[in-house]
Amino acid sequence: MDAIAAAQVLSEIGYLLRQDPKEVFRAKAFSAASWSLAQQRPDLEALAKANRLTEIEGVGAGIAKVLAGLVETGTSTYLDRLREEYKQPARDDESTIDLARYRGDLHSHSNWSDGRATMLEMARGAKALGYKFLGVTDHSPRIKVVNGLDAERLLAQSQEMAEVQAQVTGIELLQGIEVDILEDGALDLPDPVLELLDVVIASPHVKLRQEPAAMTARMMRAVSHPHVDVIGHPTGRRPGSREGASYDFEAVFKEASRNGVALEIDCDPARMDLSPEMARLALDCGCDFAMDADAHAPAELAYVPMGAWLARRAGIPMDRILNFRTDPLTKTPD
Ligand SMILES: [Zn+2]
Ligand SMILES: [Zn+2]
Repeated sequence: MDAIAAAQVLSEIGYLLRQDPKEVFRAKAFSAASWSLAQQRPDLEALAKANRLTEIEGVGAGIAKVLAGLVETGTSTYLDRLREEYKQPARDDESTIDLARYRGDLHSHSNWSDGRATMLEMARGAKALGYKFLGVTDHSPRIKVVNGLDAERLLAQSQEMAEVQAQVTGIELLQGIEVDILEDGALDLPDPVLELLDVVIASPHVKLRQEPAAMTARMMRAVSHPHVDVIGHPTGRRPGSREGASYDFEAVFKEASRNGVALEIDCDPARMDLSPEMARLALDCGCDFAMDADAHAPAELAYVPMGAWLARRAGIPMDRILNFRTDPLTKTPD
């Protein structure tokens, strides 16, 4: 078993353990070990043979045992047990997600808002992973704590982006925004600004506990907006610590599908939003997906291989995921 496949197993274990408040510490340990496998991609067979799995960063004796089992048998009895415990038994219609064909991430942040790296560092990180494109989608003005971008700063950012693009070849930088979905479903930037951007991710960040009827109206308006490409982390949940928004998911997902608006699987282990169950519902409603890291630093781009299990478990075929397409934003598959 290769490191990326193993990272997905550890990530799913971390996700399942997060459902139990008593297991938060262990959950985070599994997610951290998964992240280090996803970044460093060590040769697990060789390390297992030499009894050196604990030399991997974040891998203690317990996780090493799970990894050793994986290398030996290709499956994890611990994961099987957790799936049963959390009522997520093995399914027979999982899809195959070939991460070698993942072409680029549509949702990332730079130090123009709350990211911890420059656009140049993010671009180089994405290029090192072989990506063909990277969406730089910093926050919109309403999110003041993170220095969200208004029209003027977006213009300044586009100038820096052109300079970065000239320095980093072989990868296309897409200027975007993660625009806040306001309480009434309007977006936090005017249409003429959104129209100029390459990618618009509309996300709910505040007032997630609105009444379901109001929340449904809010999300319906967001998925009907002509400039929106993707709904970012569609429920805003944080497994184990914050319940997400509740709305008429079927109605909103169907409307998104009708309008060619993709739903995001945000692979940040603290989010994993959509959940596998919700992603399955969205698939059945005809939606397309974006599978993004929502990275705030280059190392976090590795969240995508960590979250890929979620698309696989939801049975989402690769051709329904924008990130695998040559031209991810044309709203029609290759
Ligand atoms: Zn967000
Ligand atoms: Zn984000």
